[in-house]
Amino acid sequence: GLTGNKGWQAHWRDATPKSEYDVVIIGGGGHGLATAYYLAKKHGITNVAVLEKGYLGGGNVGRNTTIVRANYFLPGNSEFYSHSLKLWEGLEEDLNYNVMHSQRGQIVLFHSDGQGDAMARRGNAMINQGDDAEMLDRAALRRMVPYLDYDNARFPIYGGMLQRRAGTARHDAVAWGYARGASERGVDLIQNCEVTGIDIEGGVVKGVQTTRGAIRARKVAMVVAGRSSQVAAMAGMRLPIESHVLQAFVTEGLKPAIDHVISFGMGHFYISQSDKGGLVFGGDLDMYASYAARGNLPLVEHVMEAGMALMPAIGKARVLRSWGGIMDMSPDGSPVIDRTHIDGLYLNCGWCYGGFKAVPASGDVTAHLIATGAPHTAGARFRLDRFRTGRGLMDEEGTGSQHN
Ligand code: FAD
Repeated sequence: GLTGNKGWQAHWRDATPKSEYDVVIIGGGGHGLATAYYLAKKHGITNVAVLEKGYLGGGNVGRNTTIVRANYFLPGNSEFYSHSLKLWEGLEEDLNYNVMHSQRGQIVLFHSDGQGDAMARRGNAMINQGDDAEMLDRAALRRMVPYLDYDNARFPIYGGMLQRRAGTARHDAVAWGYARGASERGVDLIQNCEVTGIDIEGGVVKGVQTTRGAIRARKVAMVVAGRSSQVAAMAGMRLPIESHVLQAFVTEGLKPAIDHVISFGMGHFYISQSDKGGLVFGGDLDMYASYAARGNLPLVEHVMEAGMALMPAIGKARVLRSWGGIMDMSPDGSPVIDRTHIDGLYLNCGWCYGGFKAVPASGDVTAHLIATGAPHTAGARFRLDRFRTGRGLMDEEGTGSQHN
């Protein structure tokens, strides 16, 4: 800033669309950009375009509360998020980009013996998967985070489970890092380019219609998170996805006070402190389907109450901003990365509240599927037909809403 921004270079080429690509990715969020990056880097497929209707990183990837963790319980999710966390741990070196990945640890609170038992079971599953988990009793927790309300709590605090390798990252830097890496390898990143139709002939995808003209493609991937149902409808598909608003909040900058991410599932509340000092926190969905990226006031009140119930001192902080994002909610809380019944058309969706931490693995797994035609071992269970057949459902919705 002090240099007047002179000499700064654009992070990526502002490409104009070509008439034809090997792969077109619809959606320039975290998952679309990561898919393009791994297609180019791991599979050498560079004749690729990412089509974004707004600006890169303007969707959920730049709106989330940035929690990165690998504490899922069920086979399918467990190996996928474990793979993702390992990719996070090498991401800055891989991209040569500072995404401010901070492994400050996440603590998930429990409020009864029964919840503690369930938490210990989850922790064991995490350790069996090769990740870390530690149970903290009330005294150990109190030493670590003394500012919670242990005496008059709305829900008595019995203890917590700590994952030290969990933490946060700077959300839009993740989008920018993947964008730069993909662009440097030849991928065309095309902004202000909305896909308005998908061309299909004889059950085979042929390309897309956009606000900047028709583009032919041998393969097309729909990677549009909250807009998945709308885009899939262009291919005649009806998805088992509902789009819901999730809100988040940030306070004025304060001195360092909260060292970890703290998740208070009983209150649907979670909090961390950004490097700028703002307390970043959020709660549950607004609970009605909507494409509006803003939320309602009753939920604001609910989140503030939950924050006050957990740590009354938070009442002195002034909230600066709140915002919302559109979540692609799947019926079992787990995602879809799969081919569709249309040859050459792929689907990546169903990230619910938890798709930021998934970005590296989702890009890797989706790129693998597109490039090789076979599912990656870390994402082989994310099949779309589980909702039709009932086989292979991974009912882990709570791990999103209660941990974020
Ligand atoms: P997006 O960034 O939304 O990308 C999709 C893109 O597709 C958008 O840019 C959109 O403009 C584009 N698009 C849509 N339609 C079209 C079209 N027709 N043509 C072209 N482009 C199109 N996850 C976590 O892991 N941890 C958290 O702590 C966390 N907290 C969250 C808090 C909030 C308030 C919100 C809103 C989300 C949170 N999430 C969290 C979830 C996470 O942000 C999302 O699951 C994830 O970002 C979704 O994937 P994406 O980045 O690819 O989506």
